[in-house]
Amino acid sequence: MTPTLADIHAAAQVLRGVADGTPLVPSPFMTEAGGQEFLLKLENMQPIGAFKLRGAFNAVASVMDAPGVTCCSTGNHGRGVAFAAREKGMRAVICMSELVPQTKVDGIRALGAEVRIAGRSQDEALAESLRLVEEEGLVEISPFDDAAVIAGQGTIGLEMMAKRPDLETILVPLSGGGLAAGVALAAKAINPHIRVVGITMDRGAAMYESIKAGRPVEVEEVASLADSLGGGIGMENKLSFPMCRDLLDDVVLVSEEEIYHAMQVLYYEDRIVAEGACVVGMAAVLNGKVTLNGPTATIVTGRNLDMEMFTRIVTGQDVQLGGVTVAGRPYRRAA
Ligand SMILES: *Cc1c(COP(=O)(O)O)cnc(C)c1O
Repeated sequence: MTPTLADIHAAAQVLRGVADGTPLVPSPFMTEAGGQEFLLKLENMQPIGAFKLRGAFNAVASVMDAPGVTCCSTGNHGRGVAFAAREKGMRAVICMSELVPQTKVDGIRALGAEVRIAGRSQDEALAESLRLVEEEGLVEISPFDDAAVIAGQGTIGLEMMAKRPDLETILVPLSGGGLAAGVALAAKAINPHIRVVGITMDRGAAMYESIKAGRPVEVEEVASLADSLGGGIGMENKLSFPMCRDLLDDVVLVSEEEIYHAMQVLYYEDRIVAEGACVVGMAAVLNGKVTLNGPTATIVTGRNLDMEMFTRIVTGQDVQLGGVTVAGRPYRRAA
């Protein structure tokens, strides 16, 4: 069932004191660069280092009778489910593909969950998760295509609108679309005129291609600086695809070079250490891909990055992504 504003308000009660109330702070540099007040919602400050705790905690809290929970994840959703299951005293088995960075695997094991590595894509990891549902009776919690998860992510939109009802645009990092669906639902229920734009990388943009095609399509999964935005949306997608299709005003794509530079901007100008996925909205603004007409906010979605790669980026070195090289460039403030 498609979640409603009431479900998002209910989720806000469940998350109270656990995964709520992150700061919404101004970015003076981005305000200057975009010509409009620009704000950052700091979900990188969540206990697991990412907003996914909201959706995962709300979903786990709704299946307390099950013998355990399972999911497939590029990392942050897995951490969220692991954290929530530990809080609630439940078993958690996290399935993920070989493409997931080791730091993320270690992070999940440290939260007390079992980890299963299965295949080279999100879809193969999902198949393993569904096998556990079939054979061991665990409940599968989708990272994005689940009403309780979408309602949990939607609480970010509630908090942003409560603080700044005058927001004109929200730029949302987009992958499976649970975040964008929840935030757009909350924001538009409160102010139907607000613009909500999904932003993602131009390599393997599953939701973008699916909206264009009018149905979920498969894309080839490739390595990206925004690794948390990788993966398909599921060919059987029931909720996040139609919600993103109907609620997003636009979907904008950014390149690896644009993400690289925007990661330097967030670090040097705002002094924030965050994943590539967080800066796609900033990258879109810095490269003239969205025009701003009033107060704008984006969501700094997580901080669970490979610090070795991050150090290479902030020191202007080349980065290898699978077979592709993103050319390094020392940070210089645009004139
Ligand atoms: C999952 C994730 C996203 C995208 O969220 P979706 O609901 O899959 O669209 C963005 N940033 C980070 C850090 C994430 O973990």
